[in-house]
Amino acid sequence: MSMLQNSRRLVVKVGTSTLTHATGALNLRRIGALVRVLSDLRNAGREIVLVSSGAVSAGVAKVGASRPSTIAEKQAMAAIGQSELMRLYDQLFSLYGHTVAQILLTRDVVDNPTRRALAENTFESLLSMGCVPIVNENDPVSTDELTKFGGNDILSAYVSRVCHADVLINLSDVDGLYDKDPRKCPDAKLISRVDLLSDEVYASAGGAGTERGTGGMEAKLHAAALATEAGIPMYIMNGHDPDVLYRLLDGEAVGTYFAARS
Ligand code: GLU
Repeated sequence: MSMLQNSRRLVVKVGTSTLTHATGALNLRRIGALVRVLSDLRNAGREIVLVSSGAVSAGVAKVGASRPSTIAEKQAMAAIGQSELMRLYDQLFSLYGHTVAQILLTRDVVDNPTRRALAENTFESLLSMGCVPIVNENDPVSTDELTKFGGNDILSAYVSRVCHADVLINLSDVDGLYDKDPRKCPDAKLISRVDLLSDEVYASAGGAGTERGTGGMEAKLHAAALATEAGIPMYIMNGHDPDVLYRLLDGEAVGTYFAARS
């Protein structure tokens, strides 16, 4: 657990199902609690990069539309909702004296060495200024489909690599990885530590995500593979109560820990 005590740079990923109510509108109480905890961790000397979903849902809630069905509609909703999300984050982090910065990424940025190096420099500069970068996929201009990265679970793993994070924390609507799908099997057991992402581990992932989120456990395991093979440990835990971050950093065993491979 001393690993976490010494982890200075944290990438925290939070999904749509954690950030919104069942109605699809933003869960202000949860977002408020998350920003308070992240601000406090920042005050304690940690560097924080937040990977936040929720743009499409925020857009839909703002214009009162029904759930978009076409890619173009989803991209339009993401464009509306992203600014709404950032307005809220800016207001809330400002309450605690912190400055946020928006970084919107597309797949070609991390795939292109020159553009990736520019992104690395931007993260470094922002973190050295004490800012909290908030990252999402640049959904309105992503080609082919909305989640070109494969969703923000995968994006967060790339972000942890680009900004050389010490640890990646995925706040989800599940407590972690189970040996069976806990929605179907009441006797499913939480796996507290994964050292090797074997076929058996992938087989225990329940598949697709919720109606509002896109991730699901399979995407989280792919994200864990991307992070851990770059030497970055990852945790999956329930973001229902953002105070869980204090418990984790205080050394309590929460969620599922994926050990770094090197
Ligand atoms: N980028 C999408 C959004 O902000 C979410 C993608 C995901 O949750 O994986 O709505």
